[in-house]
Parts: sequence; C-alpha cells; structure tokens
Amino acid sequence: MAAEPQDDCLFCRIVAGKIPATLVRETDTTLAFRDINPQAPTHVLVIPKAHHRDAAALATADPALTADVLRETQAVATAEGLDSYRVVFNTGAGAGQTVFHAHAHVLGGRGLQWPPG
Ligand code: AMP
Ligand code: ZN
Repeated sequence: MAAEPQDDCLFCRIVAGKIPATLVRETDTTLAFRDINPQAPTHVLVIPKAHHRDAAALATADPALTADVLRETQAVATAEGLDSYRVVFNTGAGAGQTVFHAHAHVLGGRGLQWPPG
C-alpha cells in the first residue's frame, strides 16, 4: 500500500533525511517532528512515512496507516504532557493545506479557540 517517495515533496525529503527536522517520535510507519513555524507552545506534525497527498487520500488508500498516524498524535500529546490538545488535518488549499503530504498538526500548551479561523 506504500506510495512511492516524491522527490519534490518536502516531507518525503524529511523522511529520507535530506532535510533536517527536530524529531519528536518515530515508528516504522510514521514520523513526528516540530513545526518550523509553531502556532502554539506544542506544535508537532505527525506524518505517514509513505507519501499520500492529504488525509482524504491516506484514509482511502491505507486505513491501517491512517490509524497509525492518529495513534501517534496521542503518543505525542502524552510525551508533551498535554491533557487538552487539538489535532488538525488541513485538507485542500482552501482549508490552508500548503504541504501536500498528509500530516496531522498536534497543537497544545495554550487555550485554543473554537471555531478555528
Ligand atoms: P499545512 O499548512 O497544513 O499544509 O501545514 C504545513 C506545515 O508545515 C506548516 O505549519 C509549516 O509551518 C510546516 N513546515 C513547513 N516546512 C517545514 C519544515 N521544513 N520543517 C517543519 N515544518 C515545516
Ligand atoms: Zn511526500
């Protein structure tokens, strides 16, 4: 089910070790690293190592890997000592997606407003 790495994909390049990142956790199938432009005291991205363009494509192509990503968001929250946090999958440019390799934002460490902007 694994999609091929894309040479022009920023997060595939992080998975390949070609671009540095501040790693938080790693499993066989996922990577968690700190967002370069944090929007909260904790702002970690959890990605599948395999390339899928967004959460919708990931969920359709590989439900087990989707579950791995979601499980890792919980592991990151625990490791960061968060009891309240938000998990966000921006899906599509109109929702603010800028990197087209599926990723979950794990945000916490401050009060979070609802609804989001
Ligand atoms: P999105 O806008 O939902 O696609 O999220 C992409 C996220 O990737 C943004 O929050 C960026 O700050 C973050 N980002 C971009 N480049 C890097 C990088 N080299 N290392 C870590 N995070 C990055
Ligand atoms: Zn990719």
